[in-house]
Amino acid sequence: MAQTIFHRIVSGELPCHRVYEDDHVLAFLDIFPLSRGHTLVIPKVHAETLDRLDEEHAAAIGRVLPRISRAVLDATGARAFNVLQNNGASAHQAVFWVHFHIIPRYDDGSGLVIGWPAGKLADPEGQELAARIAERL
Ligand code: 5GP
Repeated sequence: MAQTIFHRIVSGELPCHRVYEDDHVLAFLDIFPLSRGHTLVIPKVHAETLDRLDEEHAAAIGRVLPRISRAVLDATGARAFNVLQNNGASAHQAVFWVHFHIIPRYDDGSGLVIGWPAGKLADPEGQELAARIAERL
């Protein structure tokens, strides 16, 4: 298993600007922030991508994401933010340890820049695709 920079942060070998920690979750400031207060929330167990994360750690992250988001907003004065979660190199993932970005958005335009080249979902493709996904859950 390839080591990531987050292995070294979780083990305490590398320092971070920690904002939250419990038995399952660690949150700290991103070292190359897209905006002031850009925070990373990670499980304390290694999983490369979200689809490989166990439910216990996923639930623990889900539980604290709103609270950490509120704290980031309150501390920075930002009123808007994005939660971003990249999976796979082609989806812009650089560190292969699951992480959620909390990225405040400010009036000066700093924050996440999003391209959103939307298509249009038509039937019968929508029905077929929903059924294909649903039968795998
Ligand atoms: P990804 O593109 O994988 O979704 O995002 C990885 C994030 O980790 C990037 O925003 C990057 O700035 C951040 N990062 C990379 N190395 C370090 C580090 O050593 N410390 C901290 N705090 N953040 C890091």
